[in-house]
Amino acid sequence: MMHRMRAEYADGGASAAVRLWHMVRGGGSVAMCGRELDARAPAREAVDWGRTPELCCHTCGAYLLREAPWLADEHRPGPPGEQPETAWPSG
Ligand SMILES: [Zn+2]
Repeated sequence: MMHRMRAEYADGGASAAVRLWHMVRGGGSVAMCGRELDARAPAREAVDWGRTPELCCHTCGAYLLREAPWLADEHRPGPPGEQPETAWPSG
């Protein structure tokens, strides 16, 4: 499933600054959190999630991690084999 970021404007419509970035499925204008967005609002590629100066919607982010886990890879620790076997002191 393809995802895209879409902006939510602050009060004042298209002339106002971007308030929050949401994630939409496909090329739609309804965010994953359920919020309806202006279809003319600017969109960005999903890989820009979390890299904008404006905030990203936390609810959309939670859904996104479930549907597109590839975006979370960069935040994951290494493969299990590279982790210490135990965190408990053995002595
Ligand atoms: Zn959202």
